[in-house]
Amino acid sequence: MSSSSRTEGPRSGAAAGDTDNWLTKLRLQTPKSVYFDGEVRPWEEAVFHVSSEAVLRGLSVFEGVKGYWQPNGDFAFLLLERHHERLMRSARLLHIPPTADYDEFERACFQIADALLEPENDLWIRATLFVVEGHYGVGTVANLVLTAYQSEKRPPEPIDIGVSTWQRSADLAMPARIKMASNYQVARLARIEGRARGCDDMVLLNQFGRVAEGTGACMLVVRDGCVYTPPASEGALESITLDVVEDLCASAGIDFVRRPVERSELYIADEVGIVGTLAEVTTVRSVDGMALPDEAPILSALLRHYRSAAMGLDPHPSVELSVVPR
Ligand code: PMP
Repeated sequence: MSSSSRTEGPRSGAAAGDTDNWLTKLRLQTPKSVYFDGEVRPWEEAVFHVSSEAVLRGLSVFEGVKGYWQPNGDFAFLLLERHHERLMRSARLLHIPPTADYDEFERACFQIADALLEPENDLWIRATLFVVEGHYGVGTVANLVLTAYQSEKRPPEPIDIGVSTWQRSADLAMPARIKMASNYQVARLARIEGRARGCDDMVLLNQFGRVAEGTGACMLVVRDGCVYTPPASEGALESITLDVVEDLCASAGIDFVRRPVERSELYIADEVGIVGTLAEVTTVRSVDGMALPDEAPILSALLRHYRSAAMGLDPHPSVELSVVPR
């Protein structure tokens, strides 16, 4: 990729938040139903006590699960078993009892989908284990809660990002591989910082100053035809979508390497993207106001492959689909 297609200086035009991207898509919906305490109930009934550790210490682990309408009119969730496994790993690391087995998890996803699916939208579920009883690890009891949100069917649009002054916590402080609510406090700070700087999303660096991840997605950097991503040991969540993208790269003959990524590589890369359940493969237009090349051929192709597999148009063995019973 030649450097002549780069433009200098911050992009002009839209202010942060103007882009209709994966970060803004799900904002502030109030669905009519929620899965709480073993069944689907009205939204208002999903309450627990102010003295619970979920409230006092923000103690919960969760998963974001996406489902897509299929060509035959079915609706299917992606990689449910992988999400359940990671939920159980997160719970284990925080000494939360394994509250829902896979069958209950799957049933809960199907039930909330049944209650909320709209033909014109896909659906994203936040499946959370909230700690509702117990004290500092004694007598811990969790409740599986599912909230689900309408997600537009359109692919994500390119975004502008920055590098945050906030940092991903070290493994000995708050392990990034635990998908727990409190890990997102730093993401919140970074997004507030990003909004003031005209960025749609922010990169968090780790304690060594290398790239850890985005606020809700992992990072991809393309250089000379090879896709690089920082391994989880750099402070990234163990992303399920990233594993899929690795397999899609293998199928398409694209080199994919997990290795540390330095901050300066973000500015000179041929392509930069973020990857995750909601982000899918979102391409990046600029980093800290420095424009990237106009075209992102490799990441755009990966986005197409990913969506085709998720939507059942071009199935891929790594994109396992669980069809909601009709
Ligand atoms: N990092 C963070 C901090 C995330 O919140 C997410 C979204 N779950 C990801 C990475 C991507 O993970 P996945 O591909 O499993 O959605």
